[in-house]
Amino acid sequence: MASAATPCSTGCSIERTVNPADDPVPLSALQHWVYCPRQCALIHLEQAFDDNIHTARGNAVHKLVDTPGYEFRSGVKVERSLPLWSDRLGLIGKADLVEFHPDGAVYPVEFKHGRMRQKTHDDIQLAAQAMCLEDMLGRPVPLGAIYHASSHRRREVAITPALRELVVQTADAIRAMLSAGTLPPPVFDARCRECSLKDICQSEALTATTTQRALRAHLFDPED
Ligand code: SF4
Repeated sequence: MASAATPCSTGCSIERTVNPADDPVPLSALQHWVYCPRQCALIHLEQAFDDNIHTARGNAVHKLVDTPGYEFRSGVKVERSLPLWSDRLGLIGKADLVEFHPDGAVYPVEFKHGRMRQKTHDDIQLAAQAMCLEDMLGRPVPLGAIYHASSHRRREVAITPALRELVVQTADAIRAMLSAGTLPPPVFDARCRECSLKDICQSEALTATTTQRALRAHLFDPED
């Protein structure tokens, strides 16, 4: 049974109706889906996981912030590994760091390995964290940052209406995939080279089979 539409507590324009019987979507799934829907399904539907150099580096970076607790830095309260959720959006997860500033500003910071580069799959996870914080605290969270561990630099991200809409649409797509229980097809492009699941996914073999099937279908077509 669907719940009544619940408005955003900070007055944003996004209203949601999420079936309370559905399991909440993990925040990490949004990042996985935007990177590759098949990767998201392998992890969150099939519970498949494997490490490669990129996930090992990511794990090392998250060791810095995966112990819950808080400290004060120059008057700013910094919470580590803070649990987050939104019943309105059907989301659950945690934030690496959240800064609570003396002027009331709330500022999530997501840790990533690698150099400073804009990546939509990083930004959507941060935006979802900001939206959960808004629902939990009842105040706007218009900004956050990705901390790029290799360059020790922060990249500030505005939580724009477009990014908020992408969070909602992506969560809907993941819910539909989980409920259908089907794996999306492989993307078989540059993303696969860095993907820790390429052996499990078999993207190359599956794509080759599809290509061979298409070639076979036209093998005996008459020439013009
Ligand atoms: S190997 Fe490619 S298609 Fe398969 S999950 Fe990874 S990125 Fe997606």
